[in-house]
Amino acid sequence: MSTDAAASDDPPRPLRVCVFCGSSDGADPAYGRAAVAVGAAIARRGWTLVYGGAQVGLMGMVADAALEWGGEVVGVIPHGLFRDEVAHTGLTELVEVDGMLERKALMAERSDAFVALPGGMGTLDELFEMLTWSQLGLHPHPKPSGLLEVDGFWGDLVAFLDRAAADGFIRARHRALLHVADDVDALLDHLAASARPALP
Ligand code: AMP
Repeated sequence: MSTDAAASDDPPRPLRVCVFCGSSDGADPAYGRAAVAVGAAIARRGWTLVYGGAQVGLMGMVADAALEWGGEVVGVIPHGLFRDEVAHTGLTELVEVDGMLERKALMAERSDAFVALPGGMGTLDELFEMLTWSQLGLHPHPKPSGLLEVDGFWGDLVAFLDRAAADGFIRARHRALLHVADDVDALLDHLAASARPALP
């Protein structure tokens, strides 16, 4: 029997999607709308949202939207690092860990794919850690990453990655590890096609 989800006749397995995004709202309400759209889309597909466990900024918006649509939401938050009121108290599961490194490792372990929404340094750190693990083959199976483009927010980053690839610092096959889309369902469909979720 094939273990390849894409080659199988079985119905597609539900994905656990880890969303990295700003702990702030951002200056443009379009960012919040995108966060709500992603949370809702993950829940409507019967998938699980994994994220950093906060109730602030886009993080809170993506979680609230997924919960509102009846989705499972797993938060992973370091205790002691953020003020207690930052943690979301209404999640399906809130896992407390000892620090940021443990948090990233657990978010990776509990997820089949990664999505970054607009955000700052924390978002970039998390996204690129997952991409470098993909590049080095450190995930136990393929865990694709995607950027949701909102109002051209990621344009400069994508241009930088293309420059780094053209200048010989990123191999073409590694540059291709990061998929960019401005349509939520197109992005999630792409991740579903390339992820290999574990059997439930
Ligand atoms: P940033 O993009 O700098 O706002 O950071 C957001 C990302 O870093 C999230 O995906 C979180 O995992 C983590 N993070 C940064 N600041 C916070 C915070 N105040 N509360 C919870 N998580 C945070």
